[in-house]
Amino acid sequence: MQIRALLLLFVVFTGSVFANNLIVKNAPVLPYTINLVPTNKKLVALTFDDGPHVKHTKKILKILKKNKAKGTFFLIANQCEKHPELTRSILKGGHEVGNHSYAHLPYPKLNKSDRLIDIAQSQKVFKSQTGTFPRYFRAPYGKMNKESKSVIKRFFKHHISWTIDPKDWEEKKENVTEYISQNIQPGAIILLHETNKDMLKTLPLLVTELKSQGYSMVTISKLLEEYETY
Ligand SMILES: [Zn+2]
Repeated sequence: MQIRALLLLFVVFTGSVFANNLIVKNAPVLPYTINLVPTNKKLVALTFDDGPHVKHTKKILKILKKNKAKGTFFLIANQCEKHPELTRSILKGGHEVGNHSYAHLPYPKLNKSDRLIDIAQSQKVFKSQTGTFPRYFRAPYGKMNKESKSVIKRFFKHHISWTIDPKDWEEKKENVTEYISQNIQPGAIILLHETNKDMLKTLPLLVTELKSQGYSMVTISKLLEEYETY
């Protein structure tokens, strides 16, 4: 019980971190949940969910480095606890870390207290491994309801959804790349998974295709610089 109370205090302490430092550069103001960043520049964001992954993360980082591409990794904190060195490698490569919860449970199904505990536990892990709190959250399974959103808003600048879901965990690499290449547009956010065993084969094809179309792959923060500065 004491641990729960301490965690809740931690939540309260971190809750107002982002409240007052948002300066909007350009209209229109983006919604809290972002599916697409409106821009004319050929910038897109690759996002990798559900890591860090003991077999895939370092190889994904290698492919991104080779192609001068940056990504945003929505990590599950209880996996980070097992592999702190992978969290550090992601940051070292100039990529971004986002919060994808502590235990990857569907937030709308949790009660208020359990949701707060999950956020507090996850933020504690990210702070200890990265030295800072992640700016962005992606809900497990992308599932968000009104109650979850009101809690999430206290801790994160944005809930990051996606523009393109190629279903990389069930489709062949050629289909994933083709689907993305047909649906790509400036400001798009692409959903990918570190846990997908084919990601290591899909990613080189995908980055080559996007580069051939003239796109640069940047972090979510970089994409949002089109609109907001902090
Ligand atoms: Zn997930």
